[in-house]
Amino acid sequence: MNMSNVRWPNSLWAAVTPSGPDLPELTGTQQADVIVIGGGFTGLSTALHLREAGVDVAIVEAAEPGWGASGRNNGQVIPTLSRPDPEDIVARHGEAGERFVGMLRDSASYLFDVTRRYNIDAEGEQAGWVQPVHSPGRIKIAERRVRQWSKFGAPVELLSREQTRDMLGSDAWFGGFWNRTGGHINPLALARGLARTVLGLGARIYARSPAESFERRNDRWVVKTAKGEISGRALVVATNAYSGEFSKSLAPDIAREVMPVLSWQMATQPLSDNVRKTIIPGRQAMSDTHGELYFARYDARNRLVTGGALISPREAPAKLKPMLAARLQRLWPQIGAVGFDHVWSGYVGMTSDFMPRIHRLGPDAYAWAGCNGRAVALSIALGAELSRAVQGYPDGELALPFTAPAPLLAHGVLRYVKPLMLMLYRYRDAREIA
Ligand SMILES: Cc1cc2nc3c(=O)[nH]c(=O)nc-3n(C[C@H](O)[C@H](O)[C@H](O)COP(=O)(O)OP(=O)(O)OC[C@H]3O[C@@H](n4cnc5c(N)ncnc54)[C@H](O)[C@@H]3O)c2cc1C
Repeated sequence: MNMSNVRWPNSLWAAVTPSGPDLPELTGTQQADVIVIGGGFTGLSTALHLREAGVDVAIVEAAEPGWGASGRNNGQVIPTLSRPDPEDIVARHGEAGERFVGMLRDSASYLFDVTRRYNIDAEGEQAGWVQPVHSPGRIKIAERRVRQWSKFGAPVELLSREQTRDMLGSDAWFGGFWNRTGGHINPLALARGLARTVLGLGARIYARSPAESFERRNDRWVVKTAKGEISGRALVVATNAYSGEFSKSLAPDIAREVMPVLSWQMATQPLSDNVRKTIIPGRQAMSDTHGELYFARYDARNRLVTGGALISPREAPAKLKPMLAARLQRLWPQIGAVGFDHVWSGYVGMTSDFMPRIHRLGPDAYAWAGCNGRAVALSIALGAELSRAVQGYPDGELALPFTAPAPLLAHGVLRYVKPLMLMLYRYRDAREIA
């Protein structure tokens, strides 16, 4: 990629969001107390919280803020992981796991509070998040989640089939899991708003500056780019699923512990008012229990923003448009003809057990990866925790269950095999669970 001219994916968000701030490249030799590599939600939130604490911080971003997953996702603000529930997290990580569950429980409200605190116009709607179940047997998933999250104080409810039908305007689901603190945002507007906010608070952001390496030199971390270098006392590597995108040698262990899987996003043409009032009338964000996920939310112009998965990315828009139009018509026959204005994709960093990976890389150096498609809210909350980690808060006060990086064997091969999992998901989705 030519870094002097960053190309944005043809996404709904890139089409409707005011441009981000003008930013310099990293040139010459610079210094900061904390260096953050990557300007997505994690990096921007880390910088925001460091500036709130008066700490000097500089972000080194390969493209522009929000260019990775943060600017191209579905924008659903979800205070849960995709599969593991609180008891799984605590069983794996003990007390740090309990603190993590508390952070996750509050993460959606935390994100909306940040947008209000700094007047960031991210088209946010805290209308709630619903996970409807797609077969009668899957109600067990919703029941388990309600039981476990209630134990940890989350404001969750079990929805009956009738309540789910009223909430979604469709008879396709059999009940659901409901959390009122969730909702949705325009993710690129949030990323660019955060970038403006952290600049206003006195952070530096270097753009179009892919970090080629980081190393320890004379008790400091040194990050090198093609045109310069920056040294700092502490380091946060916030490159997540895009870790291997610009430099294979930057953080190979982190790049190889997640499987970057393409997720396709699509925006319909705006729905007429009459139709819109009958489809998710309360404007909640929705992601259901299919392994081949069904998901949808409105944007601020009444487009349904949805999407799907494919085994091969070849001719994706041509394959996806009829597939998703038929799905929407099955769920909501009243929608009529469906046209899509935007189709785009981004990498979701998957782990084998759907748990995120959080690492201490050395003295005052941290990283995380493995969003599993559920970390809009989590990455903002994690940024706050990572900022506390580099300020020296003790482990016992951090909601950060650390593990050592564990690169996947045969990562290169698995990357190409992983999309075949979709066949397994389709098989499982079609079966009832007893
Ligand atoms: C298509 C899609 C849909 C999703 N939908 C949802 C959703 O609806 N709800 C939800 O909760 N989660 C969703 N997610 C997940 C969510 O988007 C991510 O968890 C979140 O944005 C991660 O933020 P991040 O800052 O950690 O990573 P990113 O936003 O990916 O940021 C990493 C940054 O690092 C930069 N970078 C990479 N290499 C270098 C380098 N060498 N030097 C400097 N910078 C570098 C990249 O340019 C990028 O800006 C989705 C993800 C995708 C891809």
